[in-house]
Amino acid sequence: MGSLLSPSPLALVPFVSVAQMMTLVGRVGLDTLLKSLADQIEADFRRWPVFDKMPRVPIHSRDGVIEVMPTSDGSYYSLKYVNGHPANLARGYQTVTAFGLFARVDTGYPLLLSEMTLLTALRTAATSALAARYLASPSAKTMAIIGNGAQCEFQAVAFREIVGVETIHLFDVNPDATAKAMRNLAEVGIDARAFATREEAVARADIITTCTADKRNATILTDNLVGSGQHINAIGGDCPGKTELHRDVLLRAKIFTEFTPQSRIEGEIQQLDDDYPVTELWRLISGDAPGRETERDITVFDSVGFAIEDFAALRVIHDLVGRHPDLAEPLDLIADPDDPRDLYGMLKRALGTAASNGATD
Ligand code: NAD
Repeated sequence: MGSLLSPSPLALVPFVSVAQMMTLVGRVGLDTLLKSLADQIEADFRRWPVFDKMPRVPIHSRDGVIEVMPTSDGSYYSLKYVNGHPANLARGYQTVTAFGLFARVDTGYPLLLSEMTLLTALRTAATSALAARYLASPSAKTMAIIGNGAQCEFQAVAFREIVGVETIHLFDVNPDATAKAMRNLAEVGIDARAFATREEAVARADIITTCTADKRNATILTDNLVGSGQHINAIGGDCPGKTELHRDVLLRAKIFTEFTPQSRIEGEIQQLDDDYPVTELWRLISGDAPGRETERDITVFDSVGFAIEDFAALRVIHDLVGRHPDLAEPLDLIADPDDPRDLYGMLKRALGTAASNGATD
């Protein structure tokens, strides 16, 4: 138990700031962290039926969307706040920012608060690479990335570490974005090549990642651009009315989703009938459903981002903070009166303390 002025340890919630997340990535290593995230997401996808699942809860506006993404496995609970504002780029802001919370179910007390802008990029890349490890041709060595913004390098590094991709082809309508990605990827020893057109970028790629941001039904990939055997990792279509693939690409492909009820609302498959057959990735991971069956299959991972990926990511960060306590700072977040029923008394004592200290406003 503690007072307002000296909270008890139970009331202090570890908080991982952006600066601490960067220190954590540096200490653990980006490659190792991406692999840990992919392993935890894979393990949690294997436990899929135990989770409470719902499509995320969005509030849409003219410029974007703000969403909350909750889930629980019965012992722990997680919640992410995330926005998606494609027009932010022109304002000098990021398209996607996020923070999240990990809590215990038995008491409802939070165990961790964390920045999740970086963590979302990391878990998205880990999920994409995990899906590709199951779906892409085992001989895949080259990936095209269309859209070279915030997510791009995370995807490239994750695919190198988890899938074994050796060469990245880059294309963006904004050459500055491609130049930025070229610089960043060169620093981590990735063989990245810039292309002047998306046609050239995707032509000889085994995997195509689309991660553009535009709040409309875009056609980043038309049917003629996709050849047999390619795996498409479509992450930018993640909102109603915001897609990246032409419908004909979907009709030729085997489609894999995260949580299908959410993907029907937000994913590429919003372009298809509500009963169009798709396979949830967790079934493939659990050995319940087939993935790629021939070298000629076209596979699509219709990624929108699902709460269980954030749950897994927060759990990994929670475990790391347990081993590296200096990577979080204690937040006085939970009111903790000496008598749990006397919240008012705790406030009254604090007001008395303030008055005796001469506070006037
Ligand atoms: P960003 O705004 O930083 O980058 C997007 C890039 O796409 C920009 O460089 C822009 O110039 C480029 N672009 C736009 N239209 C293009 C086109 N027609 N052809 C080629 N390039 C084009 O955004 P980000 O943070 O990298 O996110 C990319 C997308 O991924 C967003 O739509 C975001 O909502 C989505 N996203 C999905 C998940 C998921 O889990 N599926 C997670 C995070 C982000």
